Amino acid sequence: MDPNCVFCRIAAGEIPAATVFENPGVLAFLDIRPIAPGHTLVIPRQHVETLMATPDGPLGDVALAVRDVSAALMATGADGVNVLQSNFSAAGQEVFHLHFHVIPRWNDGRPRPWASGGFQYRDEAERLDCAERLRQAIQSARTDGGPDVHEP
Ligand code: AMP
Repeated sequence: MDPNCVFCRIAAGEIPAATVFENPGVLAFLDIRPIAPGHTLVIPRQHVETLMATPDGPLGDVALAVRDVSAALMATGADGVNVLQSNFSAAGQEVFHLHFHVIPRWNDGRPRPWASGGFQYRDEAERLDCAERLRQAIQSARTDGGPDVHEP
């Protein structure tokens, strides 16, 4: 536990939260600044800052809970669910303890929370080069035993 981390303190029961689900590895609770009713955060109890730093076990536990919270939102009337997750300040991460936003949606015409098509590759060669660099990075992550994530 990191005593300076608000989500660790929620997991430890030191800060109150509206809990939706919990088990030995995971906690899910309502976001204090929701963008929709039922907007839930799913966290591992273990303090890890980002998705890339998360060991397989806690990540698996969190993924199962994200699925179950999504199903619960659908069962209670949502028409759809967005799952969002941010890593590092460049991506808008504010709380540096891994969390997935699980956000219910309705057929009400509201736009989705991100825009597709906001970027264009210079040409097809640049697009394929991008795919190749990612393929190689994933391959070396598999053979070296871990992704080489630079800290910004
Ligand atoms: P992110 O930008 O993905 O790091 O989002 C962090 C989220 O944590 C925001 O949506 C906040 O509203 C939420 N948050 C921060 N503090 C609390 C808290 N004490 N209880 C519930 N949600 C919180």
